[in-house]
Amino acid sequence: MHELQIASNLVQAVIQAASGYDHVQLVEEVHLSIGRLAFIGEEQLRFCWGAVTDEKELLKGSKLIITKEEVEVSCPSCGYKGDLGVKEDPLYHYMIPVFACPKCSSDVEILKGKGITVNNVKLIIDDEEEE
Ligand SMILES: [Zn+2]
Repeated sequence: MHELQIASNLVQAVIQAASGYDHVQLVEEVHLSIGRLAFIGEEQLRFCWGAVTDEKELLKGSKLIITKEEVEVSCPSCGYKGDLGVKEDPLYHYMIPVFACPKCSSDVEILKGKGITVNNVKLIIDDEEEE
């Protein structure tokens, strides 16, 4: 399962980030941005996050705060910069992005919206909170 792999990679990354601080008691929140082209099921990711973090003392009960990152592409042919066009797939009721320039239909380069980024991790450090 795609999301399970992602959740455990994220957990590793957060644990590593938290190890840079002293006296970390708990990770309270993990803020993520997920590109619209990353095709990650938010529900599944939350479910997997719960399953993976349940085994980790440091992350047990931590919350995932997810923001969607918009897509930005650039077209080498006409210089267009912006979102991709989408077409609706009536069979699956999905909006499928079209990987071509909305202006001239050339192949585009994807600048944003493909990956997952950890923006912020909220830790509980002994008696004082830190963001
Ligand atoms: Zn173009």
